[in-house]
Amino acid sequence: MGLFTRRKTVFVDADILVIGGGMAGCGATYEARYWGRDLKVICVEKAHIDRSGAVAQGLYAINTYMGMQWDENQPEDHVRYARNDVMGLVREDLGYDIARHVDSSVHKFEEWGLPMMKDPETGRYQREGKWQIMIHGESYKPIVAEAARKAATKVYNRIMVTHLLMDETNPQRVAGAVGFNVRSGDFYVFRAKAVIVTAGGASHIFKPRAAGEGMGRTWYAPWSSASCYALPILVGAKMMQMENRIVLTRFKDGYGPVGAYFLHLKTYTENAYGDEYESRWYEHTRELVGDYVDKKPMPTCLRNHAILEEIKAGRGPIRMVTKEAFQDPHKETVGWENFLGMTIGQAVVWASQNIDPKHTNPELTTSEPYVMGSHATCSGAWVSGPEDCAPADYQWGYNRMMTVDGLFAAGDTAGGAAHKFSSGSFAEGRIAAKAAVNYVNDLGRDQPQVSETEYQDLQKTVFQPMENYAVGRNEIVAGTVSPSYLLPLHGLQRLEQIMDEYVGGISAHYTTNEPLLTRGLELLQMLKEDLDHLGAEDLHQLQRAWELNHRVVASESVTQHTMFRTETRWPGYYYRADHPKLDDTDWHCFTLSRYDRESGEWNLEKAPVHHIID
Ligand SMILES: Cc1cc2nc3c(=O)[nH]c(=O)nc-3n(C[C@H](O)[C@H](O)[C@H](O)COP(=O)(O)OP(=O)(O)OC[C@H]3O[C@@H](n4cnc5c(N)ncnc54)[C@H](O)[C@@H]3O)c2cc1C
Repeated sequence: MGLFTRRKTVFVDADILVIGGGMAGCGATYEARYWGRDLKVICVEKAHIDRSGAVAQGLYAINTYMGMQWDENQPEDHVRYARNDVMGLVREDLGYDIARHVDSSVHKFEEWGLPMMKDPETGRYQREGKWQIMIHGESYKPIVAEAARKAATKVYNRIMVTHLLMDETNPQRVAGAVGFNVRSGDFYVFRAKAVIVTAGGASHIFKPRAAGEGMGRTWYAPWSSASCYALPILVGAKMMQMENRIVLTRFKDGYGPVGAYFLHLKTYTENAYGDEYESRWYEHTRELVGDYVDKKPMPTCLRNHAILEEIKAGRGPIRMVTKEAFQDPHKETVGWENFLGMTIGQAVVWASQNIDPKHTNPELTTSEPYVMGSHATCSGAWVSGPEDCAPADYQWGYNRMMTVDGLFAAGDTAGGAAHKFSSGSFAEGRIAAKAAVNYVNDLGRDQPQVSETEYQDLQKTVFQPMENYAVGRNEIVAGTVSPSYLLPLHGLQRLEQIMDEYVGGISAHYTTNEPLLTRGLELLQMLKEDLDHLGAEDLHQLQRAWELNHRVVASESVTQHTMFRTETRWPGYYYRADHPKLDDTDWHCFTLSRYDRESGEWNLEKAPVHHIID
């Protein structure tokens, strides 16, 4: 500790602590103030909430809006849609809960100044698709963050949370969190009565397509570093569906979104020879997944599956046919604006590769897998459901509370509710915060206590990588190679390679099997042992070190779940070559895991899928 005794330790007391100021975190912070007028509501964010999280660059569409005021859709319809897309396995109680509340959150965004596109004939929000509405959304995140800033007692930006703290008197109850300021290096101890984890999802656990200098070029935000899973896993919270990773079909190299192109511009795809190919794989897919292939719309993973098979058959690349749509000047404008509002990098890539979509049909690609709970997959924490509609075995306390008392989840962190997207994540943050306020009010005098020994030990652990570097830096063998420490980047590359080769990444064509997974777990174990020797040159690298730690924990969870589910439920996301078909008889169920940090053991179990909507 000698080197770091000059670092300040800052203590912050909170009634409600929100970890991660993205969409769900902003929703939680806003709502906690509404129900908890006199409560101390603290939001802690590792970047700056004005431009943090997956929505940092802006969005061009809000993907979840029912339009109940115009009777466009009802919450039940959305549950059916999400259930179909995730091959039957969603927590319908959670999805229904979000769907019934999401519209009011979108109305708030408009009230706060988000420019919404309107249909000139009806005056309603301009639909991009059945669930999506179009926005001029470059400033979506700062607008939403302003509401959170005004609601919070204080927002702590630039603080990376590394660990949760548990109650000294009740080891099943959360008591706060610790982290460090990535600019000053101050150590922070947050003592809280309730904690809401809203720290996004996980990118960069599998090797990305772009390597070297381009490795930040991924579809998912590179700063989504799996804290949302690692923090709860390490304190024994149950997780669900961690095998349900997502693979996205996107424009090649820039990962520009394709939704507006398919839905609004009515573009379509073809193989390298200009042929339609999806129908070619119909019978083959039917053999794997049965009737799911006939569902409308076709599940996202199955659309990937047809692309992957066509490429394997040697008829790639797959291209998006834009040349026709782009002859219409309105559609051409929409096509470009779509990128300018959310993925400007795609426009730059096209410019640099001489692609004008009016004259060239651009290539598509499938991404490396990511883990997230808010898109077309639903990995995340196993949470208690809403009192009025959750089946009894999905309910053990307050809405969105994990299996650890006082610990709540929303957005990518909360499992089971796919297709919440930005608006649904915000709405779910609000739902979680309302329940967390009730939890805090019900605590009375039975308040969690933080152990001094615990946070002092954690302080030493958190800064250890800097200590390792300071001690070992003179032993450099060559370049950045040292016999006594591992740099975070090297550790990350090792993790990505393990996940890629053994757990179903791009180089393995998303395919794995039991022997591969077994070896993958052994290699992950060895990597875990080496994490004690991470070396961090500065605070930036210290942040990378802790991001790596969190990614490794999440990766182990993904691997354990993938091993446990002996079927291929989602062809196109991943394949268990030893169990190549969907198996509804044995696996129409959720997979749950609990990590025991004392023994290092993972316990996996099945949980029933209850259908509450017909
Ligand atoms: C590429 C992409 C495109 C998308 N397009 C659309 C779209 O068009 N329309 C739509 O509606 N939705 C879209 N989504 C979905 C939407 O962005 C997510 O559903 C939503 O952002 C999830 O909210 P969240 O709060 O869970 O995570 P995020 O919004 O990502 O927020 C997580 C926050 O936690 C912070 N954090 C992480 N770790 C820590 C830590 N250890 N300590 C402190 N803070 C931490 C992060 O910095 C971040 O601010 C898209 C998502 C992606 C990735």
